[in-house]
Amino acid sequence: MKVISILGSTGSIGTQTLDVVSQHREELEVAALAAGSNVVLLEQQIRQYKPRLAAVWDEQKAAELKMAVADLDVRIVSGMEGMIEAVTLSEVDIVVTAIVGMIGIRPTMEAIKAGKDIAFANKETLVTAGHLIMQLARDYNVQILPVDSEHSAVFQSLKGESSSQIRRILLTASGGPFRGRTLKELEKVQVEDALKHPNWVMGHKITIDSATMVNKGLEVIEAKWLFGVELDQIQVVVHPQSVIHSAVEFEDRAVIAQLGTPDMRLPIQYALFYPERRTLHSEPLDLFKLGSISFEEPDLKTFRGLALAYKAARTGGSMPTVMNAANERAVALFLDRKIRFLDIPEIMEECMTAHQVIAHPSLEDILETEQWTYHYIESRW
Ligand code: NDP
Repeated sequence: MKVISILGSTGSIGTQTLDVVSQHREELEVAALAAGSNVVLLEQQIRQYKPRLAAVWDEQKAAELKMAVADLDVRIVSGMEGMIEAVTLSEVDIVVTAIVGMIGIRPTMEAIKAGKDIAFANKETLVTAGHLIMQLARDYNVQILPVDSEHSAVFQSLKGESSSQIRRILLTASGGPFRGRTLKELEKVQVEDALKHPNWVMGHKITIDSATMVNKGLEVIEAKWLFGVELDQIQVVVHPQSVIHSAVEFEDRAVIAQLGTPDMRLPIQYALFYPERRTLHSEPLDLFKLGSISFEEPDLKTFRGLALAYKAARTGGSMPTVMNAANERAVALFLDRKIRFLDIPEIMEECMTAHQVIAHPSLEDILETEQWTYHYIESRW
């Protein structure tokens, strides 16, 4: 029996993780669930999966949940301490980090220190604190197992291979809902347009990141940390059908890829059972129905967010934190209809220009830089 804890159980990745658990009840057990404020869904999950601990970020909502599940044998905790307790319970083997945003940094680090393997979905944490996380994972001898579909595809392509033999990582991108559009056409897009992803149903933040293509920039940085490659070894390839989830080119020019229908439950399940595979009840890939697939170069002029993410990655130090924090806040403002779609890269760039880079940021530096970025944005927008 593998015992899991899910940080962000009520979101897109969290609910799909629970679906995987439902398909393998004899092998997977849930010890802890954590969410932000959706206590209605969390209560249903507690009744179905019977964790012994549930954490809610919002204290008031935690109190509501406590009353609602008073008939059950489950402890309800709240805030950052609650998140940390949920991921460090003694019986937990693996933590699924399905929380959104760099708020995941502290619980992820504490989980690693407690010796838990990590099924990593929360990319913002790797983007901003990758140097700390990967070092900690080595120090505590824990496995970092990618859940992001592209990184899982690379991870699967590397099975049985030496990472020193990687020539290039071919990181595929759907191009999002605005692929092929001009800057002029993007001037008037609305929240509803940006939330219509052609291939994936995901949380709002990552869906907007896909529309701006900042998501791919975050993934480039994520890949750099996960696979220990240089930025120049990662090539973004726009592949609108999202069937090739990514590929690795080796020194001998062999290219190995992982293909499948777009379904996040596969990479989630792969991380949970690694290095073994299990049956997954999911749509099979039908190559005849697909007919053909295509590839394009990314348009860095129209999708400036991707270019800015590259710039932040090349600068290194605290710059990816500023880029990421500015994006997180700008996406929230866009979703609240306070700014326009094209203001997102504007805000990122302004923050990046104003920032004094810290070369080797500690955890405190990263958290302070995050706050600096939020205050900078508040003072201007
Ligand atoms: P969602 O917005 O759907 O879910 C986010 C989850 O985090 C929810 O459970 C939410 O709780 C919880 N949460 C938010 N804030 C807090 C907080 N302060 N404390 C505790 N819990 C909190 O996001 P996704 O599932 O789409 O994405 C999660 C992560 O996975 C992101 O980093 C994303 O980039 C990454 N990812 C997602 C993919 C996808 O297909 N969705 C694919 C690859 C990576 P509540 O519901 O209560 O607000």
